[in-house]
Amino acid sequence: MTRIEAVRGDITREQVDAIVNAASSALLGGGGVDGAIHAVAGPRLLEECRRLRNTTHRDGLEVGDAVATGAGDLPARWVIHTVGPNRHRGQTDPALLASCFTRSLAVARKVGARSVAFPAVSAGVYGWDADEVARVAVTAVRADLAARSGVAPEIDLVRFVLFSDRLLAAFEAELG
Ligand code: ADP
Repeated sequence: MTRIEAVRGDITREQVDAIVNAASSALLGGGGVDGAIHAVAGPRLLEECRRLRNTTHRDGLEVGDAVATGAGDLPARWVIHTVGPNRHRGQTDPALLASCFTRSLAVARKVGARSVAFPAVSAGVYGWDADEVARVAVTAVRADLAARSGVAPEIDLVRFVLFSDRLLAAFEAELG
């Protein structure tokens, strides 16, 4: 059984196998959680992201997709970059946001991560409502884990790491 939990905190301090980054499609850093992750991870993370842009991801990462890199100086082993839908650009389809969570879990399994920490993707600059992000995230993660329960490699822990009490309350309400 996979444990799913929500905590208030700073995702850059998480000692899990993989932390998920709410990246921009350019993959080259930005503000919010992306900026915080790059600041703590240091230049090796940016180098790896540049390498992706020069090889497998010449056009960047699509909304709803995910890709892994190493984690530089972060305590985690991997950073899984995903691009949330941007409400200010009319990206309002919850399936795109759900895809961020399911694709990130697929990438986590691919690299062998057994514990994964997620931020509230799209709940910052990209303008999604906290309650909706919590509902979509928890529903998508639960469905994904249920569909793959008993199939190796199993993920043991999914932790939502929320930056505000408001977001924590929204995720706690969804988790019940
Ligand atoms: P997006 O562009 O996908 O909306 P943001 O980075 O603007 O991404 O915000 C996503 C969420 O991450 C917001 O709720 C923001 O408060 C939160 N956040 C910012 N910094 C951190 C951090 N260090 N750890 C965890 N969450 C963070």
